[in-house]
Amino acid sequence: MNNQARTSRAERHVRPHESNITAIHDVSSPTTVPAMSIPAQPKPAPGLFMFGRLAFLDNKVSRCYGCGEALKPGGSIPDPPDDLVVTTRLNRLYYNQDGQLQTSPRISSVYFHLNPQCVRAACPLFAVTSCQIPNDLVSFLSLQHQKALLERFGIAYVS
Ligand SMILES: [Zn+2]
Repeated sequence: MNNQARTSRAERHVRPHESNITAIHDVSSPTTVPAMSIPAQPKPAPGLFMFGRLAFLDNKVSRCYGCGEALKPGGSIPDPPDDLVVTTRLNRLYYNQDGQLQTSPRISSVYFHLNPQCVRAACPLFAVTSCQIPNDLVSFLSLQHQKALLERFGIAYVS
């Protein structure tokens, strides 16, 4: 009996191609951001709110002014869409040496997680209508950012 030919044919198992599946995952890798013409530091007028990506903001930006938690857990910028933050400028509240709540006479920038609840924790009158997406940021927003803005803030925009 000769069943050798049958065995080798059975081993030639052709697996389906998966290359078109892996391609989808790479769409918005942060490394595709061009190095030239980085967006300017957002400077909204007091009462207005802007979005910014942590990679383009001052390195010192670290804490959410709403919930007090880190914007860069472990010191590293989170993956999109959570590398997008909300910023506004206001007179910061702080506790002095006697433990009394003080208002800074100076207007400074504060930052929040991409979460309306974080913003409302510090700015109870926060309304999505006072949010702006800086023009120079739009080309740096990925599909994940777009989705998060829509789901979390109800903001839809056309890039
Ligand atoms: Zn927060």
